[in-house]
Amino acid sequence: MKLFRVIGDERVAHSLSPRMHNAVLAKAGIAGSYQAWPVQPEALASAMDEFRVLGLAGANVTVPHKQAVAGMLDELHGYAVELGAVNTIVVQGDRLIGHNTDVPGFRAAVESQGVVIESLACVVVGAGGAARAVALSLREAGAKRVCVAGRSLGKVKRLADDLKVEACGLGDLADLTAACDLVVNATSVSCASESADMAAMVGALPLNQRARMVVDINYGRSDNLWEQWASSHSIRFMDGLAMLAHQARESFGLWTGIKPPVQDFLAPLETAQ
Ligand code: NDP
Repeated sequence: MKLFRVIGDERVAHSLSPRMHNAVLAKAGIAGSYQAWPVQPEALASAMDEFRVLGLAGANVTVPHKQAVAGMLDELHGYAVELGAVNTIVVQGDRLIGHNTDVPGFRAAVESQGVVIESLACVVVGAGGAARAVALSLREAGAKRVCVAGRSLGKVKRLADDLKVEACGLGDLADLTAACDLVVNATSVSCASESADMAAMVGALPLNQRARMVVDINYGRSDNLWEQWASSHSIRFMDGLAMLAHQARESFGLWTGIKPPVQDFLAPLETAQ
């Protein structure tokens, strides 16, 4: 029996990942179980020690541990090295190897809609860990321009310096959206009830005629302010479920060597909505 966990703070209890991975394990005929496992920051190091001795098959890492855990592993691979953030742990004997599948997961989600990122001018709103992964994903996919816009300018500038992208404040967002092809919300705010200021600001933003898509990496919000904005400009909108499914598929591939169709990951999410 292969055991998998997703670790985060108490919010991990609401994660859709167990539903998704358990369904895919069953469909793939793999005897396994994937569980949500709350870990407080002070217990993170001992949770890693436990992973080594338990013989776990693999794990995901979610808020707020993605960066902290990166310093506790034996090795980082691929995008996790540049991001300094890990969302997937592969267990090899007693060694823990950190990967970041949010980066390829975001790209695959966008490209699954027929949007080719190469040569697009893109703006990413937000400066947290997810914004970092999205900005790196866009840069690596060959975007012509990647600009990160956020309310905490110091944080935005650090992100931009680290990843060699552009930085700006929320005050510049109107000029940016008027000139961009792809707009991504990577803040944690998706509805007016979460921030009336953000809703007013977004509702008043312009979009140009060649804009291809608005993406909100959050999901499960019925009154999504980014969706409403995209719809008012007749622009395609995508929420974060596809990214969640694609990053999960990448993680599953790292753990098992098998990459089932993305629909196998999406189907359990759609019935959870
Ligand atoms: P963080 O907490 O690290 O970052 C949140 C960001 O949102 C920060 O930059 C913060 O600003 C900004 N923000 C919050 N409130 C406001 C506001 N009122 N106005 C302007 N900016 C605001 O979270 P993560 O980056 O880890 O995750 C962001 C979201 O993405 C989460 O909701 C998460 O669930 C989702 N996510 C989805 C994934 C998927 O697969 N679909 C994968 C990963 C994340 P400041 O910088 O000033 O603090």
